[in-house]
Amino acid sequence: MHEYDLLVVGSANADLVIGVERRPGPGETVLGGDLAVHPGGKGANQAVAAARLGARTALLARVGDDDHGRLLLGSLRAAGVDPVGMLVGGAPTGVAVITVDRSGDNSIVVSPGANARLAAADVRAAGGLFGAARVVSTQLEIPVGTVVETVRSLAPGSRFVLNASPPAEVPAEVLAACDPLVVNEHEARALLGDPAGDDPRRWAWPLLALGPRSVVITLGAAGALVADGLSGPPVMVPSPRVEAVDTTGAGDAFTAALAWRLGLGEPLATAAAYAARVGAAAVTRKGAQASYPTEGELPAG
Ligand code: ADP
Repeated sequence: MHEYDLLVVGSANADLVIGVERRPGPGETVLGGDLAVHPGGKGANQAVAAARLGARTALLARVGDDDHGRLLLGSLRAAGVDPVGMLVGGAPTGVAVITVDRSGDNSIVVSPGANARLAAADVRAAGGLFGAARVVSTQLEIPVGTVVETVRSLAPGSRFVLNASPPAEVPAEVLAACDPLVVNEHEARALLGDPAGDDPRRWAWPLLALGPRSVVITLGAAGALVADGLSGPPVMVPSPRVEAVDTTGAGDAFTAALAWRLGLGEPLATAAAYAARVGAAAVTRKGAQASYPTEGELPAG
């Protein structure tokens, strides 16, 4: 009997957002609007998205002993994430300093802070959590050695889902454990180097050739392309049509929902169709975690 549907190993950041008329150039100072502070980071986003949907979720992450850390712990608790895996201290909580101009374009500086201190030893110390989870998911905002240790800590029979975001080198050992590897178009390009052509539907097999057991390429409003191994052709899973307001964090919500549904035993394409409904719901509201739906708020598939 598993205690958790999903264990997320990953990052937790405070997003510090300032609206500006125009983003500053080198050496320039500009005045902006009031500072808004939101809980974020791909790991925390995934955990909150899954818990909101009703998944029994734990997050292994590190925050600082500071106000941003307390903000994150509060948002995780409010969503129903079990805080058992949360580590506190060692460095300030990671932050993303974001300026957004009038046209909606942004500039972002990330200070990984405590995320960079989430160590392989922390993964080993959390060993019991791995045995208690059906599915383990992670992303690339934590040290690569921590991701490698996560893969080595998987309990027999548990499933591993990687959202290869932000783009970074992924060791072959990690790719081989992915079932699936989840990427958007940009991340797929980064992993493939210089992929042939501009049609992401042709990238599923080259991505499978890197070693994952299955691949999901998210394609924004178009939905997602799903390749469940090399045995059959890739399948296109459409996303419900919605009025997009803010796409921040859509990929995190998609991945979390996908991982949870796979753990319940759904086939990859069925789980991806559910995840597309969750991603679509997340773009209809502003923010990342604030936009994540409950089961009752999902659009029809
Ligand atoms: P990322 O946020 O990582 O760039 P995507 O933009 O591909 O990822 O979004 C992830 C998923 O969210 C998509 O596969 C889709 O299901 C859903 N989604 C994103 N944007 C839209 C949109 N404009 N309309 C409907 N669904 C969307």
